[in-house]
Amino acid sequence: MSDCCAVPGSIEACAIVVDKEIPNTDSCCSMCGKEGRPVELQTVVHHVKHQHLDRVNGESYRFCADRSCRVVYYGDEGTHFTVDDVRELVTTKTKGDARPICYCFGFNEGDARKEIERAGQSTIPAKVSGLIKAGMCACEVRNPAGVCCLGEVNRTVNRLSAEHQASVHIIGVEGWRGNSR
Ligand SMILES: [Zn+2]
Repeated sequence: MSDCCAVPGSIEACAIVVDKEIPNTDSCCSMCGKEGRPVELQTVVHHVKHQHLDRVNGESYRFCADRSCRVVYYGDEGTHFTVDDVRELVTTKTKGDARPICYCFGFNEGDARKEIERAGQSTIPAKVSGLIKAGMCACEVRNPAGVCCLGEVNRTVNRLSAEHQASVHIIGVEGWRGNSR
């Protein structure tokens, strides 16, 4: 099991730690100006398309999590790789059903949305956390952000559940109004 998933019983252990300090501009993304989180060279190598592997060198790389920025990885000597240079869709930079929420076990937002629409809830968080506890995850290389997927799984399922509840409520109210006429 990787360290990022190592605190049993805590979903917060996997959340991205937000740095409250003033960012060091050397460590910021040259495109959006925000400070990314450091990632291992191995993570970059696993996600960059083979056509771009010769641009991966010995720099220290960071992952840019900004939703509207096209940069995925940037090095401390100026190299950067955008969403077009990596092999998979990046969670924070993608919307809709194709948006990956767990890279280790292949769940996307559409899987969670369909399950919630059908059954009212999702079994994905329990499946993912069970597999993580069994030591089956490889988030630090599988996930382009280099962090555990479980935090994103929980956030997405909570959001979709709330959206589903809201839509059920609207249909219920309209149905009731319709019946009372
Ligand atoms: Zn950026």
